[in-house]
Amino acid sequence: MRADNNPRLQWPNKRPVAVSLTFDVDAEAGLLGDSPSFARRLTSLSEGRFGVTRGVPRILELLRRHKIPATFFVPGYTAQQHPHLVEMLLKEGHEIGHHGHMHLRSDKVSAEQQSEEMQLGLEALAKAGAPKPAGYRSSSWELTPETFELVLANGFAYDSSCMGDDRPYYEQWNGASILEIPVHWSLDDWPMFGWSIDNGGNFTAPRALFDSWLAEYESARRDGRHTSFTMHPEVIGRAARFEQLERLVERMVGDGDVWFARLDEVAKQVAPQLQQVAK
Ligand SMILES: [Zn+2]
Repeated sequence: MRADNNPRLQWPNKRPVAVSLTFDVDAEAGLLGDSPSFARRLTSLSEGRFGVTRGVPRILELLRRHKIPATFFVPGYTAQQHPHLVEMLLKEGHEIGHHGHMHLRSDKVSAEQQSEEMQLGLEALAKAGAPKPAGYRSSSWELTPETFELVLANGFAYDSSCMGDDRPYYEQWNGASILEIPVHWSLDDWPMFGWSIDNGGNFTAPRALFDSWLAEYESARRDGRHTSFTMHPEVIGRAARFEQLERLVERMVGDGDVWFARLDEVAKQVAPQLQQVAK
């Protein structure tokens, strides 16, 4: 067993817990990256589009109401298809992270396609007016050795795709390391609510989201940990589910001492602390 040398991380103003709300705006890219056959599946595409037209406005209103800054991972194609999305997110003080271009899964495409996916995503975000992203999140959270190298080569401050700890840590591969702000399937709305006509899925009762994520928040609070939740606007943006997210946010805000932070702010906060221990 490896020694646990991860320090107890400190949050600004001695806040006892840190929480990040993150949103992957897969929209139509999530479908088209899965299969080109979606190009003529207008119903499926309309569900992806719902994320931007209905999900994002609901999310922005909630974040505005509670003055919470959040991180949005936007595939390049989504930025192209919805020209005002990036501008709107930036205007409200949110972070834009890299989430591929066509949302291609790294493990399913060649090294060349992974490189192209990285480049096209960067170009599309820049064209939409986003600053160079500090963070990278791979499509479906699948990193390959090639993606790992691309993340390093492109100078990202952090990755948010791995699950090797439930605290920020350094993910290692082949002698190199990158600051990881970890994720987990249980803290993602997709396994709870994601469903497709081709593969089925789950229609968990909306209330389950409140119960399970509140338990995660309370455990993070006891540990003094950072935790992050991952959501998809087309999934969480359905009204009945969204009400459960609202309840959770209101509950956390009610504690009055949570550090709600964008992932780039979390990276800035933890990198010096983790490097101190590594010395
Ligand atoms: Zn995604």
